[in-house]
Amino acid sequence: MKTESLVLPHDPSWNEARVAWNLAVDQQPAAVALPESAEDVVAVVRWARSRGLRVAPQGTGHNAAAMGSLAHTLLVKTERMRGVEIDPDARTARVEAGVLWAEVAEAAAEHGLAALAGSSPDVGVVGYSLGGGISWLGRCYGLAANSVTAVELVNAEGEIVRADHENESELFWALRGGGGSFGVVTALEFQLYPIAEVYAGVLFFPIERGTEVLRAWSRWTEDVPDEVTSVGRFLQFPPIPDIPEPLRGGSFVVVEATSLLSESATDELLAPLRELGPAMDTFATIPVQRLSSLHMDPEHPVPGVGDGMLLRDFPEEAVDAIVAAAGADSGSPLLSRAVRPLGGALGRMQPEHGALATIEARFAMFAVGISMTPEMGAVMKAHIEVVQAALASWDAGRDYLNFTERRERGERFFGSATYRRLQTVKGKVDPDDVFRSNHPVRLPGGRLRKAA
Ligand SMILES: Cc1cc2nc3c(=O)[nH]c(=O)nc-3n(C[C@H](O)[C@H](O)[C@H](O)COP(=O)(O)OP(=O)(O)OC[C@H]3O[C@@H](n4cnc5c(N)ncnc54)[C@H](O)[C@@H]3O)c2cc1C
Repeated sequence: MKTESLVLPHDPSWNEARVAWNLAVDQQPAAVALPESAEDVVAVVRWARSRGLRVAPQGTGHNAAAMGSLAHTLLVKTERMRGVEIDPDARTARVEAGVLWAEVAEAAAEHGLAALAGSSPDVGVVGYSLGGGISWLGRCYGLAANSVTAVELVNAEGEIVRADHENESELFWALRGGGGSFGVVTALEFQLYPIAEVYAGVLFFPIERGTEVLRAWSRWTEDVPDEVTSVGRFLQFPPIPDIPEPLRGGSFVVVEATSLLSESATDELLAPLRELGPAMDTFATIPVQRLSSLHMDPEHPVPGVGDGMLLRDFPEEAVDAIVAAAGADSGSPLLSRAVRPLGGALGRMQPEHGALATIEARFAMFAVGISMTPEMGAVMKAHIEVVQAALASWDAGRDYLNFTERRERGERFFGSATYRRLQTVKGKVDPDDVFRSNHPVRLPGGRLRKAA
Protein backbone atom coordinates (compact mmCIF):
# COMPACT_ATOMS: atom_id res chain seq x y z
CA MET A 1 0.00 0.00 0.00
CA LYS A 2 1.25 3.51 -0.81
CA THR A 3 2.30 5.07 2.50
CA GLU A 4 0.84 8.45 1.47
CA SER A 5 -2.61 6.76 1.37
CA LEU A 6 -2.50 6.16 5.10
CA VAL A 7 -2.56 8.69 7.96
CA LEU A 8 -1.92 7.58 11.55
CA PRO A 9 -2.64 9.43 14.84
CA HIS A 10 0.98 10.60 15.26
CA ASP A 11 1.16 12.07 11.71
CA PRO A 12 1.15 15.90 11.38
CA SER A 13 -1.88 15.74 9.03
CA TRP A 14 -3.94 13.59 11.43
CA ASN A 15 -6.46 16.26 12.47
CA GLU A 16 -7.00 17.34 8.87
CA ALA A 17 -7.37 13.74 7.68
CA ARG A 18 -9.98 12.64 10.23
CA VAL A 19 -12.29 15.66 9.87
CA ALA A 20 -15.86 15.13 8.58
CA TRP A 21 -17.98 17.61 6.58
CA ASN A 22 -20.12 17.86 9.69
CA LEU A 23 -17.62 19.66 11.91
CA ALA A 24 -19.68 18.88 15.03
CA VAL A 25 -18.58 15.23 14.75
CA ASP A 26 -15.21 14.43 16.35
CA GLN A 27 -14.07 11.33 14.43
CA GLN A 28 -11.38 9.28 16.23
CA PRO A 29 -10.63 6.24 14.04
CA ALA A 30 -7.59 3.98 14.42
CA ALA A 31 -6.25 5.29 11.08
CA VAL A 32 -7.44 7.15 7.97
CA ALA A 33 -6.87 5.95 4.40
CA LEU A 34 -7.02 8.36 1.45
CA PRO A 35 -7.01 6.07 -1.60
CA GLU A 36 -6.70 7.47 -5.13
CA SER A 37 -7.89 4.42 -7.08
CA ALA A 38 -9.79 1.12 -6.75
CA GLU A 39 -6.39 -0.64 -6.48
CA ASP A 40 -5.50 1.59 -3.51
CA VAL A 41 -8.82 0.60 -1.90
CA VAL A 42 -7.94 -3.09 -2.36
CA ALA A 43 -4.65 -2.44 -0.57
CA VAL A 44 -6.22 -0.52 2.33
CA VAL A 45 -8.96 -3.13 2.89
CA ARG A 46 -6.33 -5.90 2.98
CA TRP A 47 -4.14 -3.81 5.29
CA ALA A 48 -7.08 -3.28 7.69
CA ARG A 49 -8.04 -6.94 7.66
CA SER A 50 -4.49 -8.08 8.33
CA ARG A 51 -4.55 -5.95 11.50
CA GLY A 52 -8.04 -6.97 12.65
CA LEU A 53 -9.45 -3.49 11.99
CA ARG A 54 -12.91 -2.78 10.68
CA VAL A 55 -13.40 -0.54 7.64
CA ALA A 56 -15.71 2.51 7.47
CA PRO A 57 -16.08 4.05 3.98
CA GLN A 58 -16.80 7.78 3.89
CA GLY A 59 -17.23 10.22 1.01
CA THR A 60 -17.69 13.60 2.66
CA GLY A 61 -18.91 12.97 6.20
CA HIS A 62 -22.28 14.70 5.64
CA ASN A 63 -23.92 11.87 7.56
CA ALA A 64 -21.05 11.21 9.98
CA ALA A 65 -23.18 11.93 13.07
CA ALA A 66 -24.84 8.51 13.04
CA MET A 67 -21.53 6.61 12.79
CA GLY A 68 -20.74 6.34 16.52
CA SER A 69 -17.33 5.30 17.83
CA LEU A 70 -14.69 4.57 15.19
CA ALA A 71 -12.40 2.69 17.61
CA HIS A 72 -10.56 -0.25 15.94
CA THR A 73 -11.73 1.08 12.57
CA LEU A 74 -9.92 2.27 9.45
CA LEU A 75 -11.77 5.28 8.06
CA VAL A 76 -11.53 5.09 4.24
CA LYS A 77 -12.10 8.59 2.87
CA THR A 78 -12.66 8.57 -0.88
CA GLU A 79 -12.23 12.33 -1.40
CA ARG A 80 -9.26 11.90 -3.78
CA MET A 81 -11.24 9.69 -6.20
CA ARG A 82 -12.86 12.39 -8.33
CA GLY A 83 -13.19 11.04 -11.91
CA VAL A 84 -16.43 11.90 -13.79
CA GLU A 85 -17.26 10.49 -17.25
CA ILE A 86 -20.45 11.35 -19.13
CA ASP A 87 -21.70 9.25 -22.05
CA PRO A 88 -24.10 11.66 -23.79
CA ASP A 89 -25.41 9.04 -26.25
CA ALA A 90 -26.24 6.45 -23.59
CA ARG A 91 -27.28 9.28 -21.21
CA THR A 92 -25.25 7.79 -18.37
CA ALA A 93 -22.56 8.94 -15.97
CA ARG A 94 -19.73 6.98 -14.36
CA VAL A 95 -18.29 8.61 -11.26
CA GLU A 96 -15.60 7.64 -8.81
CA ALA A 97 -16.39 7.36 -5.13
CA GLY A 98 -15.34 10.85 -3.99
CA VAL A 99 -17.33 12.83 -6.55
CA LEU A 100 -19.72 15.55 -5.29
CA TRP A 101 -23.11 16.27 -6.83
CA ALA A 102 -22.13 19.72 -8.14
CA GLU A 103 -19.34 18.11 -10.20
CA VAL A 104 -21.73 15.69 -11.92
CA ALA A 105 -24.42 18.32 -12.41
CA GLU A 106 -21.93 20.64 -14.18
CA ALA A 107 -20.46 17.86 -16.36
CA ALA A 108 -23.89 16.49 -17.35
CA ALA A 109 -25.25 19.98 -18.12
CA GLU A 110 -22.61 20.41 -20.85
CA HIS A 111 -24.61 17.77 -22.75
CA GLY A 112 -28.09 19.07 -21.85
CA LEU A 113 -28.46 16.32 -19.26
CA ALA A 114 -29.39 16.27 -15.58
CA ALA A 115 -28.70 13.82 -12.75
CA LEU A 116 -30.94 13.11 -9.78
CA ALA A 117 -28.74 15.32 -7.57
CA GLY A 118 -29.52 16.27 -3.99
CA SER A 119 -30.33 19.79 -2.86
CA SER A 120 -26.76 20.44 -1.72
CA PRO A 121 -23.85 20.91 -4.15
CA ASP A 122 -21.28 19.17 -1.97
CA VAL A 123 -23.12 16.04 -0.83
CA GLY A 124 -21.30 12.91 -2.07
CA VAL A 125 -22.89 11.04 -4.98
CA VAL A 126 -22.10 7.62 -3.50
CA GLY A 127 -23.35 8.03 0.10
CA TYR A 128 -26.50 9.82 -1.14
CA SER A 129 -27.25 7.15 -3.76
CA LEU A 130 -26.57 4.20 -1.44
CA GLY A 131 -29.11 5.71 0.99
CA GLY A 132 -31.85 6.38 -1.60
CA GLY A 133 -31.43 9.95 -2.86
CA ILE A 134 -34.36 12.37 -2.94
CA SER A 135 -33.68 15.04 -5.57
CA TRP A 136 -35.58 18.04 -6.89
CA LEU A 137 -36.53 15.81 -9.86
CA GLY A 138 -37.48 12.79 -7.73
CA ARG A 139 -41.27 13.06 -8.04
CA CYS A 140 -40.84 12.56 -11.80
CA TYR A 141 -37.86 10.17 -11.92
CA GLY A 142 -37.84 8.39 -8.53
CA LEU A 143 -35.03 7.78 -6.06
CA ALA A 144 -31.46 8.25 -7.33
CA ALA A 145 -30.67 4.70 -6.09
CA ASN A 146 -33.10 3.32 -8.64
CA SER A 147 -31.38 5.15 -11.50
CA VAL A 148 -28.07 3.43 -10.65
CA THR A 149 -27.11 0.95 -13.38
CA ALA A 150 -23.88 -0.50 -11.93
CA VAL A 151 -21.76 -0.39 -8.78
CA GLU A 152 -18.07 -1.20 -8.52
CA LEU A 153 -16.82 -2.04 -5.05
CA VAL A 154 -14.05 -3.69 -3.07
CA ASN A 155 -15.47 -6.53 -1.00
CA ALA A 156 -14.44 -7.98 2.36
CA GLU A 157 -11.87 -10.26 0.66
CA GLY A 158 -10.21 -7.19 -0.82
CA GLU A 159 -11.41 -8.04 -4.34
CA ILE A 160 -12.90 -5.70 -6.95
CA VAL A 161 -16.49 -6.67 -7.82
CA ARG A 162 -18.93 -5.20 -10.32
CA ALA A 163 -22.61 -5.50 -9.42
CA ASP A 164 -25.40 -4.78 -11.90
CA HIS A 165 -28.66 -6.36 -13.07
CA GLU A 166 -26.75 -9.30 -14.63
CA ASN A 167 -23.82 -9.79 -12.21
CA GLU A 168 -24.09 -10.11 -8.44
CA SER A 169 -27.73 -9.07 -8.81
CA GLU A 170 -28.66 -9.63 -5.15
CA LEU A 171 -25.73 -7.45 -4.01
CA PHE A 172 -26.76 -4.88 -6.64
CA TRP A 173 -30.28 -4.90 -5.20
CA ALA A 174 -28.93 -4.35 -1.65
CA LEU A 175 -26.63 -1.49 -2.65
CA ARG A 176 -29.49 0.52 -4.13
CA GLY A 177 -30.87 2.05 -0.93
CA GLY A 178 -29.45 -0.39 1.64
CA GLY A 179 -26.52 1.86 2.62
CA GLY A 180 -22.79 1.34 3.02
CA SER A 181 -22.62 -2.03 4.83
CA PHE A 182 -21.50 -4.20 1.91
CA GLY A 183 -18.06 -2.99 0.78
CA VAL A 184 -16.15 0.12 -0.26
CA VAL A 185 -17.83 1.44 -3.40
CA THR A 186 -15.20 2.71 -5.83
CA ALA A 187 -17.46 3.85 -8.70
CA LEU A 188 -21.12 4.22 -9.65
CA GLU A 189 -22.84 4.29 -13.01
CA PHE A 190 -26.27 5.85 -13.35
CA GLN A 191 -28.87 7.23 -15.70
CA LEU A 192 -29.08 10.90 -16.70
CA TYR A 193 -32.18 12.69 -17.98
CA PRO A 194 -32.61 15.15 -20.88
CA ILE A 195 -33.30 18.31 -18.89
CA ALA A 196 -31.37 21.54 -19.54
CA GLU A 197 -33.51 24.13 -17.76
CA VAL A 198 -36.11 24.27 -15.01
CA TYR A 199 -38.43 26.98 -13.71
CA ALA A 200 -37.55 27.32 -10.04
CA GLY A 201 -37.42 29.77 -7.17
CA VAL A 202 -38.33 30.71 -3.64
CA LEU A 203 -41.21 32.72 -2.17
CA PHE A 204 -40.04 34.43 1.04
CA PHE A 205 -42.52 35.57 3.70
CA PRO A 206 -41.89 37.02 7.20
CA ILE A 207 -41.67 34.16 9.71
CA GLU A 208 -44.64 35.57 11.67
CA ARG A 209 -46.84 34.43 8.75
CA GLY A 210 -45.72 30.79 9.18
CA THR A 211 -49.10 29.32 10.07
CA GLU A 212 -50.99 31.04 7.25
CA VAL A 213 -48.36 30.37 4.57
CA LEU A 214 -47.64 26.73 5.44
CA ARG A 215 -51.36 25.96 5.82
CA ALA A 216 -51.93 27.33 2.29
CA TRP A 217 -48.86 25.47 1.00
CA SER A 218 -49.91 22.14 2.56
CA ARG A 219 -53.35 22.44 0.87
CA TRP A 220 -51.59 23.41 -2.39
CA THR A 221 -49.38 20.28 -2.35
CA GLU A 222 -52.44 18.01 -2.44
CA ASP A 223 -52.92 18.21 -6.19
CA VAL A 224 -49.81 19.66 -7.84
CA PRO A 225 -48.52 17.37 -10.63
CA ASP A 226 -45.37 15.22 -10.29
CA GLU A 227 -43.44 17.73 -12.43
CA VAL A 228 -43.54 20.16 -9.49
CA THR A 229 -41.49 19.55 -6.35
CA SER A 230 -41.58 21.92 -3.40
CA VAL A 231 -40.39 22.45 0.14
CA GLY A 232 -42.19 24.39 2.88
CA ARG A 233 -39.73 25.67 5.41
CA PHE A 234 -38.88 27.90 8.33
CA LEU A 235 -35.45 29.45 7.80
CA GLN A 236 -33.52 31.54 10.31
CA PHE A 237 -30.27 32.77 8.82
CA PRO A 238 -27.37 33.53 11.17
CA PRO A 239 -25.93 37.07 10.95
CA ILE A 240 -22.70 35.94 9.26
CA PRO A 241 -20.93 37.34 6.16
CA ASP A 242 -21.49 34.03 4.27
CA ILE A 243 -25.19 34.87 4.00
CA PRO A 244 -25.97 37.60 1.44
CA GLU A 245 -28.13 40.64 2.20
CA PRO A 246 -31.14 40.91 2.52
CA LEU A 247 -31.28 37.39 4.01
CA ARG A 248 -28.44 37.79 6.55
CA GLY A 249 -29.79 37.48 10.09
CA GLY A 250 -33.38 37.27 8.76
CA SER A 251 -36.15 34.84 9.75
CA PHE A 252 -38.54 33.62 7.08
CA VAL A 253 -41.14 31.07 6.16
CA VAL A 254 -40.46 30.06 2.55
CA VAL A 255 -41.84 27.93 -0.23
CA GLU A 256 -39.14 26.62 -2.55
CA ALA A 257 -40.22 24.89 -5.74
CA THR A 258 -38.96 23.62 -9.04
CA SER A 259 -41.02 22.74 -12.08
CA LEU A 260 -40.48 20.80 -15.28
CA LEU A 261 -43.63 22.41 -16.74
CA SER A 262 -43.64 25.60 -18.82
CA GLU A 263 -43.31 28.98 -17.07
CA SER A 264 -46.93 29.84 -17.81
CA ALA A 265 -48.32 26.51 -16.57
CA THR A 266 -46.21 26.84 -13.41
CA ASP A 267 -47.24 30.47 -12.85
CA GLU A 268 -50.85 29.33 -13.00
CA LEU A 269 -50.15 26.69 -10.35
CA LEU A 270 -48.23 29.16 -8.16
CA ALA A 271 -50.97 31.82 -8.30
CA PRO A 272 -52.66 30.92 -4.95
CA LEU A 273 -49.29 31.10 -3.17
CA ARG A 274 -48.33 34.39 -4.84
CA GLU A 275 -51.71 35.82 -3.83
CA LEU A 276 -50.45 35.62 -0.24
CA GLY A 277 -48.06 38.46 -1.15
CA PRO A 278 -44.49 37.19 -0.65
CA ALA A 279 -41.88 39.73 0.44
CA MET A 280 -39.54 38.31 -2.22
CA ASP A 281 -40.17 36.06 -5.26
CA THR A 282 -37.08 34.63 -7.00
CA PHE A 283 -38.78 32.36 -9.60
CA ALA A 284 -36.97 32.27 -12.95
CA THR A 285 -35.99 29.80 -15.65
CA ILE A 286 -32.51 28.59 -14.67
CA PRO A 287 -29.95 26.06 -15.98
CA VAL A 288 -30.78 22.78 -14.24
CA GLN A 289 -27.38 22.58 -12.48
CA ARG A 290 -28.24 25.78 -10.56
CA LEU A 291 -30.81 23.77 -8.60
CA SER A 292 -27.89 23.05 -6.28
CA SER A 293 -28.31 26.52 -4.76
CA LEU A 294 -32.14 26.63 -4.55
CA HIS A 295 -32.29 25.12 -1.05
CA MET A 296 -29.54 27.52 0.16
CA ASP A 297 -27.51 24.72 1.77
CA PRO A 298 -24.03 25.62 3.05
CA GLU A 299 -21.38 25.01 0.39
CA HIS A 300 -18.58 24.11 2.81
CA PRO A 301 -18.23 22.08 6.01
CA VAL A 302 -20.25 23.34 8.99
CA PRO A 303 -20.95 22.06 12.51
CA GLY A 304 -24.56 20.92 12.52
CA VAL A 305 -27.00 18.86 14.54
CA GLY A 306 -29.91 17.63 12.46
CA ASP A 307 -32.44 14.86 12.17
CA GLY A 308 -35.44 13.92 10.09
CA MET A 309 -38.76 12.16 10.19
CA LEU A 310 -41.11 10.69 7.61
CA LEU A 311 -44.74 11.77 7.82
CA ARG A 312 -47.80 9.96 6.48
CA ASP A 313 -49.47 13.35 6.02
CA PHE A 314 -48.89 17.06 6.71
CA PRO A 315 -52.34 18.57 7.20
CA GLU A 316 -53.14 22.01 8.63
CA GLU A 317 -53.11 20.53 12.17
CA ALA A 318 -49.50 19.41 11.60
CA VAL A 319 -48.58 22.93 10.49
CA ASP A 320 -50.05 24.25 13.73
CA ALA A 321 -48.12 21.62 15.69
CA ILE A 322 -44.75 22.52 14.11
CA VAL A 323 -45.41 26.23 14.72
CA ALA A 324 -46.47 25.60 18.32
CA ALA A 325 -43.33 23.48 18.86
CA ALA A 326 -41.18 26.57 18.34
CA GLY A 327 -42.86 28.20 21.36
CA ALA A 328 -43.59 31.29 19.31
CA ASP A 329 -43.26 31.78 15.56
CA SER A 330 -39.68 32.94 15.88
CA GLY A 331 -38.78 31.17 19.10
CA SER A 332 -36.77 28.29 17.69
CA PRO A 333 -32.96 28.41 17.58
CA LEU A 334 -32.96 25.97 14.64
CA LEU A 335 -31.58 27.18 11.32
CA SER A 336 -34.15 25.22 9.32
CA ARG A 337 -37.29 23.17 9.79
CA ALA A 338 -38.20 21.89 6.33
CA VAL A 339 -41.00 19.67 5.05
CA ARG A 340 -40.90 18.21 1.54
CA PRO A 341 -43.75 16.41 -0.18
CA LEU A 342 -42.76 13.03 -1.62
CA GLY A 343 -45.13 10.95 -3.75
CA GLY A 344 -45.07 10.71 -7.54
CA ALA A 345 -42.35 8.37 -8.79
CA LEU A 346 -40.83 8.29 -5.27
CA GLY A 347 -43.85 6.23 -4.24
CA ARG A 348 -44.23 4.01 -7.33
CA MET A 349 -42.71 0.53 -7.02
CA GLN A 350 -41.10 -1.03 -10.13
CA PRO A 351 -39.92 -4.67 -10.21
CA GLU A 352 -36.37 -3.70 -11.14
CA HIS A 353 -35.96 -1.36 -8.15
CA GLY A 354 -33.41 -1.90 -5.39
CA ALA A 355 -33.76 -2.35 -1.62
CA LEU A 356 -35.32 1.10 -1.21
CA ALA A 357 -37.95 0.66 -3.91
CA THR A 358 -40.11 3.56 -2.74
CA ILE A 359 -40.44 5.90 0.20
CA GLU A 360 -43.51 4.87 2.13
CA ALA A 361 -44.53 8.30 3.34
CA ARG A 362 -46.13 11.40 1.87
CA PHE A 363 -43.77 13.97 3.44
CA ALA A 364 -40.22 14.14 4.80
CA MET A 365 -39.29 16.57 7.57
CA PHE A 366 -35.70 17.60 8.32
CA ALA A 367 -34.67 20.02 11.07
CA VAL A 368 -31.14 21.30 11.67
CA GLY A 369 -29.30 23.77 13.85
CA ILE A 370 -25.74 25.07 13.89
CA SER A 371 -23.77 23.91 16.92
CA MET A 372 -20.43 25.59 17.57
CA THR A 373 -20.03 23.76 20.91
CA PRO A 374 -21.29 20.47 22.40
CA GLU A 375 -23.56 22.56 24.67
CA MET A 376 -25.15 24.27 21.66
CA GLY A 377 -25.45 20.84 20.05
CA ALA A 378 -27.44 19.57 23.04
CA VAL A 379 -29.79 22.58 22.77
CA MET A 380 -30.34 21.96 19.03
CA LYS A 381 -30.94 18.25 19.60
CA ALA A 382 -33.54 19.03 22.28
CA HIS A 383 -35.36 21.45 19.93
CA ILE A 384 -35.34 18.90 17.10
CA GLU A 385 -36.84 16.33 19.46
CA VAL A 386 -39.59 18.80 20.37
CA VAL A 387 -40.43 19.18 16.64
CA GLN A 388 -40.42 15.40 16.18
CA ALA A 389 -42.66 14.91 19.23
CA ALA A 390 -45.07 17.58 17.97
CA LEU A 391 -45.40 15.69 14.67
CA ALA A 392 -45.66 12.22 16.28
CA SER A 393 -49.35 11.87 15.32
CA TRP A 394 -48.33 11.92 11.64
CA ASP A 395 -45.26 9.63 12.00
CA ALA A 396 -45.20 7.32 8.96
CA GLY A 397 -43.65 4.51 11.04
CA ARG A 398 -40.60 4.56 8.77
CA ASP A 399 -37.36 6.55 8.57
CA TYR A 400 -35.31 7.66 5.59
CA LEU A 401 -31.67 6.67 5.91
CA ASN A 402 -30.24 9.89 4.41
CA PHE A 403 -32.28 12.17 6.67
CA THR A 404 -31.58 10.19 9.84
CA GLU A 405 -28.61 11.35 11.88
CA ARG A 406 -29.23 9.10 14.90
CA ARG A 407 -28.87 5.33 15.24
CA GLU A 408 -32.13 3.62 14.30
CA ARG A 409 -33.29 0.01 13.92
CA GLY A 410 -32.94 -1.38 10.37
CA GLU A 411 -36.63 -2.30 10.28
CA ARG A 412 -37.55 1.40 10.57
CA PHE A 413 -35.71 2.10 7.31
CA PHE A 414 -36.84 -0.88 5.27
CA GLY A 415 -39.68 -2.82 6.92
CA SER A 416 -38.94 -6.28 8.30
CA ALA A 417 -39.07 -8.41 5.12
CA THR A 418 -36.69 -6.14 3.16
CA TYR A 419 -34.41 -5.77 6.16
CA ARG A 420 -34.16 -9.58 6.54
CA ARG A 421 -33.25 -9.85 2.83
CA LEU A 422 -30.56 -7.18 3.34
CA GLN A 423 -29.23 -9.14 6.33
CA THR A 424 -28.99 -12.26 4.18
CA VAL A 425 -26.91 -10.34 1.60
CA LYS A 426 -24.74 -8.94 4.41
CA GLY A 427 -24.19 -12.46 5.81
CA LYS A 428 -23.04 -13.69 2.38
CA VAL A 429 -20.78 -10.85 1.31
CA ASP A 430 -19.38 -9.73 4.67
CA PRO A 431 -19.80 -12.59 7.20
CA ASP A 432 -17.13 -11.09 9.51
CA ASP A 433 -18.89 -7.70 9.56
CA VAL A 434 -15.78 -5.88 8.35
CA PHE A 435 -17.65 -2.91 6.90
CA ARG A 436 -19.07 -0.29 9.23
CA SER A 437 -21.76 1.99 7.96
CA ASN A 438 -23.47 4.95 9.64
CA HIS A 439 -26.72 2.94 9.41
CA PRO A 440 -25.50 -0.67 9.61
CA VAL A 441 -27.26 -3.73 8.30
CA ARG A 442 -26.62 -6.29 11.03
CA LEU A 443 -25.61 -9.89 10.34
CA PRO A 444 -28.55 -12.34 10.21
CA GLY A 445 -29.87 -13.18 13.67
CA GLY A 446 -28.33 -9.96 15.01
CA ARG A 447 -24.95 -11.71 15.38
CA LEU A 448 -22.27 -9.38 16.62
CA ARG A 449 -18.85 -9.30 15.07
CA LYS A 450 -16.32 -11.54 16.80
CA ALA A 451 -13.73 -9.50 18.72
CA ALA A 452 -10.66 -8.78 16.57
C1 LIG B 1 -26.72 20.09 3.66
C2 LIG B 1 -27.29 18.73 3.34
C3 LIG B 1 -28.20 18.58 2.28
C4 LIG B 1 -28.73 17.33 1.97
N1 LIG B 1 -29.65 17.21 0.95
C5 LIG B 1 -30.17 16.00 0.65
C6 LIG B 1 -31.15 15.84 -0.39
O1 LIG B 1 -31.54 16.78 -1.06
N2 LIG B 1 -31.64 14.60 -0.62
C7 LIG B 1 -31.22 13.50 0.08
O2 LIG B 1 -31.69 12.40 -0.21
N3 LIG B 1 -30.30 13.63 1.05
C8 LIG B 1 -29.78 14.84 1.35
N4 LIG B 1 -28.88 14.96 2.38
C9 LIG B 1 -28.51 13.78 3.14
C10 LIG B 1 -27.35 13.06 2.45
O3 LIG B 1 -27.83 12.39 1.31
C11 LIG B 1 -26.75 12.05 3.42
O4 LIG B 1 -26.14 12.76 4.47
C12 LIG B 1 -25.74 11.15 2.73
O5 LIG B 1 -25.42 10.08 3.58
C13 LIG B 1 -24.51 11.92 2.34
O6 LIG B 1 -23.63 11.11 1.61
P1 LIG B 1 -22.08 11.50 1.67
O7 LIG B 1 -21.33 10.47 0.92
O8 LIG B 1 -21.94 12.93 1.31
O9 LIG B 1 -21.83 11.40 3.23
P2 LIG B 1 -20.93 10.40 4.09
O10 LIG B 1 -21.18 10.78 5.51
O11 LIG B 1 -19.55 10.42 3.60
O12 LIG B 1 -21.53 8.98 3.78
C14 LIG B 1 -22.69 8.51 4.42
C15 LIG B 1 -22.62 6.99 4.44
O13 LIG B 1 -22.64 6.50 3.10
C16 LIG B 1 -21.83 5.35 3.00
N5 LIG B 1 -20.77 5.59 2.02
C17 LIG B 1 -20.25 6.77 1.60
N6 LIG B 1 -19.30 6.54 0.68
C18 LIG B 1 -19.19 5.20 0.53
C19 LIG B 1 -18.40 4.33 -0.26
N7 LIG B 1 -17.49 4.79 -1.12
N8 LIG B 1 -18.57 2.98 -0.14
C20 LIG B 1 -19.50 2.49 0.71
N9 LIG B 1 -20.27 3.25 1.49
C21 LIG B 1 -20.12 4.59 1.41
C22 LIG B 1 -21.26 5.07 4.36
O14 LIG B 1 -22.09 4.14 5.04
C23 LIG B 1 -21.33 6.43 5.04
O15 LIG B 1 -21.40 6.31 6.45
C24 LIG B 1 -28.35 16.19 2.71
C25 LIG B 1 -27.44 16.35 3.78
C26 LIG B 1 -26.92 17.59 4.10
C27 LIG B 1 -25.97 17.71 5.26
